[in-house]
Amino acid sequence: MTTYLVIGAVRIQQWITRSPRLALTRGASLALTQRTSSQYLHGRFASPLRLSEAVPEIAGVVVLESDEDLDDSQVLNAMKVLGVELPGIEWTAWVAAAPSYIQAYRDTDGGQRGGRTYHLAPASRRLPMLVECEGCHEESATVKRLLPDGKSHSYGEDCEIRRGFHEEELKRLRAAYAAAGPDGNGATEATQFDHLAHVEPRPEKGERDPRLHVMGRRDADNHIALVAADGNRIGDFFKAVADVGDAAVHTRLSKALDDATRKACVEARQKTERHMTKPQYYPDVIHYVGGDDVLASVAGRFAWIWAVALGEAFERGFQDEVERALAGVPAQQASAIRQTAKAASLGIGMVFTQVKEPFALAREFSGKAESLAKRAGQGKRSVIAWADTTVDDRVLGGHHIGLAEASMQLSEGHALSSLTSSARSTLTELLRKTPSHMQLDRIYEWASRTRNERIKDRLIRETDPDKGCVTLAADLDRARWWPAAHLEEIR
Ligand SMILES: [Zn+2]
Repeated sequence: MTTYLVIGAVRIQQWITRSPRLALTRGASLALTQRTSSQYLHGRFASPLRLSEAVPEIAGVVVLESDEDLDDSQVLNAMKVLGVELPGIEWTAWVAAAPSYIQAYRDTDGGQRGGRTYHLAPASRRLPMLVECEGCHEESATVKRLLPDGKSHSYGEDCEIRRGFHEEELKRLRAAYAAAGPDGNGATEATQFDHLAHVEPRPEKGERDPRLHVMGRRDADNHIALVAADGNRIGDFFKAVADVGDAAVHTRLSKALDDATRKACVEARQKTERHMTKPQYYPDVIHYVGGDDVLASVAGRFAWIWAVALGEAFERGFQDEVERALAGVPAQQASAIRQTAKAASLGIGMVFTQVKEPFALAREFSGKAESLAKRAGQGKRSVIAWADTTVDDRVLGGHHIGLAEASMQLSEGHALSSLTSSARSTLTELLRKTPSHMQLDRIYEWASRTRNERIKDRLIRETDPDKGCVTLAADLDRARWWPAAHLEEIR
């Protein structure tokens, strides 16, 4: 029997995004990945605990094992090792003894039932009467830092660690940029949200604007989108994997999921870059990627291209990665795993915001949009749900579209691309003024009068006449950030 101790960071995404500064957000992602890596943690835990090799590396999760039973103080001391390294994070842990990690995981449902559980509050907190950290407003300040804006900022312990990691990253990026030389592609990672909003240089006065435009905005600069994605049916996949009962297979297939998600992010960036003209910055900043989770900020005008590419790359890539990892697995079990991998999809939530808006607000909205996408797809297919804080103060229920449909419209044109922008405004206004139960009739009348067959087609999709034109309203809203095939579309 081996005793397993699994320590995990709680609410990682909230912690990463609690600072409005991109530098501190990026620094947090880097700190989490590095400080929970087995390479960094090697030799830091007291005997009899050792790092387990039964699980692949996942940022924010540390699996330890011991040949002896563990008492409460041994567990808490191990948790405190992480508490010191990442003082802004809240940690939970579970302990279970079993012949293998998989067995321990299955016996306790991943620490959900049975087993002993523990909790460690963040070491760094906001205390009354002390100066507040200006990086996150969630801890007391301990140091003063002179930042690139020339002002002195009070930072707490946690933000100081984030800042340090980001500074290292900046050095690395600058070195890589210099090494790429004048023939490099010229783009580098954004280090401020403002950079991300202006990924491409503006044309000079009188020059033609060759940049990608969006249907509903004359000027899409100053806006970014936060994309949050999470896998559907991943639980079924891991159940099928656990049925094999082989720790090495479990490790390989967990890694397959992680790899597929990471590669999907890379592919989304590459696909988006094909639509860019002389980019100064990459179109995205990845805040977090691990397991089946993604959190990334994307330049507003490219967000739909990026999100669709992410979903497609994940669906295809996950099956490929799984296929490679299945070598040596008995045929019947391999086939069961293959089926669950095929059934997996992504729920993608996307929120458009003005670049100066608080990041925490975007995080909250993107989480809600992600839940909506998962609900709308019923776990069976990838769906993208969106929200736009520049227009609405909430996530609207009808604002979602299936990945396949979105992909088709990216290549063949938006559902309403036949409408001029003034016709779109008329429709929006008509919908706004007409009570829900009268919308279908009123819009049908309008479409007949203006001979708009495509609108009639869209109206057929409305399933509940009492609810009004939900699909059409969503199409109109989606048009705002939809890539425009021609410049004329935005005029
Ligand atoms: Zn702070």
